[in-house]
Amino acid sequence: MVDTLTFPVQQTAQSRLSEVDFANLGFGKYYSDHMFVVQYADKQWQNPRIVPYGDLSLSPATSALHYGQALFEGLKAYKNEAGEVLVFRPEANARRLNASAERLAMPALPEEMFMAGLQQLLALDKDWIPAAPGHSLYIRPFMFATDAYTGVRPSETYLFIIFTCPVGVYYNKPVRVKVETHFTRAPKGGMGYSKAAGNYASALYPTALAQKDGYDQLLWTDGVSHEYFEESGTMNVMFVINGKLVTPATSDSILKGVTRDSVLKLAQQMGIAVEERPVSVREVIEAAKNGTLTEAFGVGTAATIAPIAVIGHEGVDYTLPPMETRTVAPRIHQALDDIKTGKAADSFGWVVKM
Ligand SMILES: *Cc1c(COP(=O)(O)O)cnc(C)c1O
Repeated sequence: MVDTLTFPVQQTAQSRLSEVDFANLGFGKYYSDHMFVVQYADKQWQNPRIVPYGDLSLSPATSALHYGQALFEGLKAYKNEAGEVLVFRPEANARRLNASAERLAMPALPEEMFMAGLQQLLALDKDWIPAAPGHSLYIRPFMFATDAYTGVRPSETYLFIIFTCPVGVYYNKPVRVKVETHFTRAPKGGMGYSKAAGNYASALYPTALAQKDGYDQLLWTDGVSHEYFEESGTMNVMFVINGKLVTPATSDSILKGVTRDSVLKLAQQMGIAVEERPVSVREVIEAAKNGTLTEAFGVGTAATIAPIAVIGHEGVDYTLPPMETRTVAPRIHQALDDIKTGKAADSFGWVVKM
């Protein structure tokens, strides 16, 4: 462990900031000047440092590339009107990183190291945080196994890295989603609750098949009966049925989204009834048919709230009420944005000034 949580910095010789077109940021097109790197070896995290963002040199036998011992996190930083750096719930990501690490037989990273590394990185690359409305700095912490060893066992060495990228407004075009009842994103007893890299790999093929049929994303169902909803694409999923905000209760096959938790808490504060419980496909399709399903949306850090326009189930497309009629998701989205950017009081203590 390090005694002092100020890490050595190797500053870039030439900042790339002037190359960035802040009017056309896209999502994940530009990478900030520096990254925070820590190595794990001899049963401890060591050599934490900040270095210029750049390529890594790895052995072809790097075990993460073969056996998938790799995980990641995602969170965002904003600038408030005074130009201060605000990070949304970073401790929650530090904790979840370690929950994922445990499931993948990877070592826990001290939360202080995560927080201090992030703080120092953001201080150094502060000018990369866009100030325009709706823009933010996306933060990508990740960890992977680095043993150059082809036998199957938990790696004895790892790298933990945080890099960041300025991102623009995520245009939330309402999506067409298909209820997936054949493939499973995450089985019971699997690693679906962890942000394991492999969870994403297993979702790509079924998603591509649905996209051939004209859908954008999948509505994942449980791996046992395929009768209960779990997530939407790479986001948690919520429905508004009879005016109540209904979402699947978390389990080992559902990722505990920070956005999910924040949306539920805000909804409760606004006096909206919230139900966390098993949500069956049958219930939602019935509600779509009889008009009591007024909204459906995904929730996650990248888009915050991604409205669902159409749900496809067994060859029938159910079109949900138009965006103009929706009140719950837009209200919560606005309230959440206002807290993240320091425009509204942060009564939950979510925002960390860095
Ligand atoms: C990251 C992620 C989410 C959303 O989590 P947030 O903390 O809100 O960004 C939901 N589902 C899956 C599978 C994820 O990987």
